[in-house]
Amino acid sequence: MGDKKIKAIVVRGTGDVYIARPEAFMDEMQGVTDYIQFRWANPIKDVMTIMSGIGSPQEMLHTDEKWHTENFAWGNARTRRRDFWTEEIEASWTKSQHGAVKRLISCFNCPTQCGALISQKDTPRYMAKCFGKLTYAMAAYVDDLEFGWKILQRASEYGVDSFSTPQILAFAVELYEAGILTDKDFAGCPPDKEGRFFWLLDRVVRREGIGDILADGVYFAARKIGNGAEAFDHNTIKKHEQLPIKLGTMDPLYFLMLSTNEKISITQMEGQWPQSAFPTMEQREAFVKDWPQLPDDKFKQYVLDWELRGEKSIPHFPTPEMCSEIVDWMEMMHNIDDATGMCCGMSSFCFKPPYHIHNYPRLISAATGLDIDEDGLKKIVNRSRNLHRAFNNRRGMTRADEKPPADHWKKRFPELEEQLLSTYYKFKGWNNDGIPTREKLEELDLGYVADDLEKRGILKNGQN
Ligand code: SF4
Repeated sequence: MGDKKIKAIVVRGTGDVYIARPEAFMDEMQGVTDYIQFRWANPIKDVMTIMSGIGSPQEMLHTDEKWHTENFAWGNARTRRRDFWTEEIEASWTKSQHGAVKRLISCFNCPTQCGALISQKDTPRYMAKCFGKLTYAMAAYVDDLEFGWKILQRASEYGVDSFSTPQILAFAVELYEAGILTDKDFAGCPPDKEGRFFWLLDRVVRREGIGDILADGVYFAARKIGNGAEAFDHNTIKKHEQLPIKLGTMDPLYFLMLSTNEKISITQMEGQWPQSAFPTMEQREAFVKDWPQLPDDKFKQYVLDWELRGEKSIPHFPTPEMCSEIVDWMEMMHNIDDATGMCCGMSSFCFKPPYHIHNYPRLISAATGLDIDEDGLKKIVNRSRNLHRAFNNRRGMTRADEKPPADHWKKRFPELEEQLLSTYYKFKGWNNDGIPTREKLEELDLGYVADDLEKRGILKNGQN
């Protein structure tokens, strides 16, 4: 529904798929399959249940949503409801989920059933997975999960995104309640929370009336609507809606991922690193014990040293240098997944995944016949990452754009945040404005990109 006016392109292949070295490829795949089975039989301990196995977060299988409903913000990324998950809610939501999920399903040919076939009462069947189950209900402040299943069916049929769309609808409701959008904009809209969301969703998808403006997303809609609407655009980064999360103390890893990620959404960036320190040394030791996916064993010590409180806790630990290494690893894995077409539930968005930096080169080599080792794969990823960055720099992106929403955390540390950015840029081989240096680009055989950036005055001659 964006400016290309299409949602997706589907290619249906009917020919054979040729593998360069089939035997070697199938050997690697056997290792992957064995590992998936092992992981399912041995879930990772002391992490969220939905993240303890393989695949995208298992929210169709598990019903306990205390973590999401009490830690993520409701409405237009506004309110944390810390006491939401009562016994009554748990009973009602569990019943609703068991009623709606007809069976668990996988994407084509995948052994991991992250999705579910949903039919809630009389709605036509559809496929759902992950956090989409909650996003509409939470954005609309509706405490009944039945509403979530019902509206997700219509949204799935329309093909809209379950993360940004509810934010746009919640933003419109806020503007209406604040008197910035009026009865005229909402003419014909039902007064109840549920009806309002259905009505707005229809308007956005058909680009009718106020829906035509909202369909451009919160950032652009706010500027078009004006009259103070800009102040309600409080949860975007680089003009894109973000997950509705508002937390306490600035987290240096998340600061870097949110700020510098070329794909501009934390879900396209985070994944393999634990979301917070483990409280006890026993838990840390157990977590690092079996972790061959790491690019460097020294990362294990970072987990062992990481405390919940005190000197070695957020925001000062992991240190900016460590954060740069960890973030570099996570973005590398997401970029390899994108380039190969791998589901990030099998790799970058998963703790201890079956596909990682050590077996990927062997798999890619066996599949394609290209002679690629780890260093070769890292170079390819780096070329891709730096091309994306240079492209965005050409479109005007600078250091000033690399910041999370102002209210993302209550406690901010401006000096440390600047230090994090500078350290990460240096680690990446970028200048202090976040632009790849000539030296870095030439190292990646991208000298022509440096020429282009210099010609445009984006990279000053000789500036490193
Ligand atoms: S392809 Fe990914 S999202 Fe789909 S079932 Fe497999 S792991 Fe889950």
